[in-house]
Amino acid sequence: MKTVDLVIKNARMLLEGGVIAGGVGVLDGRICAIARDEHLPDADREIDVNKKLLMPGLIDGHAHFHDLAMLDHEDFTTGSRAAAAGGVTTFVDMPLTSNVIRPADVNEKIEQGEKMSVIDFALYGGMIDAENYLMIHELSSMGIDGFKAFTSDPFYANAGVIARALSEISEVGGHLTIHSEDQGILTEFAKDMEGDWDAPVSHSLSRPNVAESVAIGQNIEIAKLTGGHLHIAHLTTAEGVDRIAEAKGEGVTVTTEVCPHHLTFTRDDMNRLGPESKMNPPLRSSHDRGALWSALLRGTIDMTVSDHAPAPMEKKMRGKDDIREAWAGVDGTQMILRILLSEGIGRGRLSFDRLLHVACRNPAKIFGLYPKKGTIAIGSDADLVVVDRNVEQTITADMMFSKCGWTLYEGMKMQGAPIMTFVRGTQVFGENRIMVKPGHGEFQPMGGIRTNRGK
Ligand SMILES: [Zn+2]
Repeated sequence: MKTVDLVIKNARMLLEGGVIAGGVGVLDGRICAIARDEHLPDADREIDVNKKLLMPGLIDGHAHFHDLAMLDHEDFTTGSRAAAAGGVTTFVDMPLTSNVIRPADVNEKIEQGEKMSVIDFALYGGMIDAENYLMIHELSSMGIDGFKAFTSDPFYANAGVIARALSEISEVGGHLTIHSEDQGILTEFAKDMEGDWDAPVSHSLSRPNVAESVAIGQNIEIAKLTGGHLHIAHLTTAEGVDRIAEAKGEGVTVTTEVCPHHLTFTRDDMNRLGPESKMNPPLRSSHDRGALWSALLRGTIDMTVSDHAPAPMEKKMRGKDDIREAWAGVDGTQMILRILLSEGIGRGRLSFDRLLHVACRNPAKIFGLYPKKGTIAIGSDADLVVVDRNVEQTITADMMFSKCGWTLYEGMKMQGAPIMTFVRGTQVFGENRIMVKPGHGEFQPMGGIRTNRGK
């Protein structure tokens, strides 16, 4: 038999049919064999993982790593290192300061990403006004089929813009991702917080659940009208879960995602955690957190993403006496898999089959990267993660690869962690360090999933 580049053997492989004993062979960056150990080919490098779990690399579909105006927060190198150490093998970079991304920006970002990232990446486009949706076809031809809009400040887009964008995007087979909080409700409820802004929890109380459910309801109505693929960003509320479950039941093309911080913390943690715990949408109640976990298990929530957007501590601490002044955004890309293992599977709130779907397979499909990414299959990229379910870790800032130097998860005890990460057959993370130089990452154009256009 021909010698291949790499064999990973003696694993418990997380495949679409279940957990199977054996391993994989890798040739030229792709999976060329999936077999019991005795049937694996000879290889230049052989890794015996001693019955640990072998799964596809995660796809982090919502990551703010490289904003040209905020490179003090994170960049393609630091962000992708954190991702790799979290078992992520592909991320989708989203704009941060300006929600617009033009064809010229795309070329610049691809060039910088391919110089700086240690893992593969795709790019989101932004959507605010008419000028943006005129660029949809051109951006799509460049491999960008995911577009981001907001129903809240600072990138507020009205219902008309969203309707126009959604029908235009459906023509290219892409999707519109919407940060769904209603700005009118946010503005009014903020007035009730006067005098209480010194308490971090006021940030959450000023942005009530109804702001999310109203915006989701409106966006679903627009999706029904246009037939375009609506994707609700970072879902946080039980009411939002119900709205989306109902719409899916009616056949509306709607998908959604959830972040590790909303699966881990509640607003009751905010005063203890301080301004670091500010993000949008905010932390909610334990009832909401429970609804998110069960929606993730049931299938109402399609995927997990980080919404990784931390800032230097100084920008967080500006909110020490007035939470409105703090940067909104937290770390997360290094934590997705750990939270799913420890808080999800460890506590009986998630199954391995669902983990495979929400962290790998579904995001690959939603971003048009499947089956190149998101699965262990013959011919797929050898994007792989070895997971040790028995490793116990207390999370500290010094194990994190983010530029920010702090973590919202400081001091948390976790069971289960990624211990090796491979991108196209090259080991990028292991022994708690990054094993490749910046520039290993390649841009991945989205193929676009075909939605029920014209319906
Ligand atoms: Zn975001």
